[in-house]
Amino acid sequence: MRRLIWIVLVLVCSLSVMEGKRVLVTGGAGFLGSHLCERLYEAGNEVICADNLYTGSLRNISHLIGKKGFQFIQHDVEDPFSQDLIVDEVYNLACPASPPHYQRDPIKTLRTNVIGAINVLELAKRSHAKIFQASTSEVYGDPLEHPQKETYWGNVNPDGIRSCYDEGKRCAETLFFDYQRLYGVNIKVGRIFNTYGPKMNADDGRVVSNFIVQALENKPITIYGDGQQTRSFCYVDDLVDVILLLMDSPDGFHGPVNIGNPNEFTVKELALKVLAMTGSTSEIISLPLPLDDPKVRNPDISLARRVLNWEPKFQLEDGLKSTIEYFRASLAKPS
Ligand code: NAD
Ligand code: UDP
Repeated sequence: MRRLIWIVLVLVCSLSVMEGKRVLVTGGAGFLGSHLCERLYEAGNEVICADNLYTGSLRNISHLIGKKGFQFIQHDVEDPFSQDLIVDEVYNLACPASPPHYQRDPIKTLRTNVIGAINVLELAKRSHAKIFQASTSEVYGDPLEHPQKETYWGNVNPDGIRSCYDEGKRCAETLFFDYQRLYGVNIKVGRIFNTYGPKMNADDGRVVSNFIVQALENKPITIYGDGQQTRSFCYVDDLVDVILLLMDSPDGFHGPVNIGNPNEFTVKELALKVLAMTGSTSEIISLPLPLDDPKVRNPDISLARRVLNWEPKFQLEDGLKSTIEYFRASLAKPS
């Protein structure tokens, strides 16, 4: 009898260990998506990573490919998902995030955001799944309120070179809230502020990866404009933590919620920090400021603190240290 009880106990325990969710991560081969896939997989979930490899790379998920419970599908979110696909959770990250990449084909960027949002929402609706949308601080445009609270409606140019991204993401948020109101879809909208870390592409084009790669190669550090514009930089591990907390937040909480690190730096300060930390001999040069480049950006994260009980842990120096190590190692590898 005792033996039987033990067997039942062991069975129950192993079943509860295996009891992961079935999750879909779109954009899962990208910078943030690949970190998220890893964390979701390590937590015991079955992970389906869907990506068209526009800016993402199989390199980012090579350690997961072939593992039981992990599946990569090359899929463009512009195309509807198979009717047979049923999941418990969707994390919608598909969209190029770096200005040079999202501006390369602006109509594609809009289609990814708008048609892609409809396709993931339809999947969530028929699956009765929770769905996270990777929204952005860009919904605030070149903000006139500083720091930015979720209640601020923003200052966005609808016709500029950043509009494909800004307006695409704004429209995606609208679609998410309409699916919630009309069909009761359980949405979670997070507005991500500048996030950096290992697994960014060396040619990503965003400021942190540009400065680190330039410094490590002793090439000129390219500051756009006078470098007095500000950004608030969040390390990727903090960001993944808060995305997971948001997904697990109470059912009635949909956001939008700012997720980012509120420590604000000028671009010039960032350049000087990277130079000091890499010991580089690079000179700093000034290039023209791109059109509509926001002058300031800083998240008010009181909502995330209160509802999600979250606080970013990594200071800029800590995050830069591991990002520099990552690029040092990856630049040393033959391509
Ligand atoms: P990234 O460019 O590294 O990743 C984007 C991923 O989406 C790539 O793997 C790309 O191949 C994929 N993708 C693009 N278009 C697609 C499509 N039509 N169908 C399927 N896959 C597609 O960028 P990231 O920094 O990892 O950003 C991920 C998400 O987070 C994006 O939605 C971005 O807008 C959002 N976000 C990121 C930041 C940040 O600072 N990293 C800030 C705000 C918002
Ligand atoms: N930037 C820069 N040099 C670079 C890349 C970017 O000075 O090589 C500036 C850019 O003009 C912006 C800030 O750094 O003011 C952040 O740019 P990024 O592309 O990382 O993200 P954004 O917040 O603009 O989407």
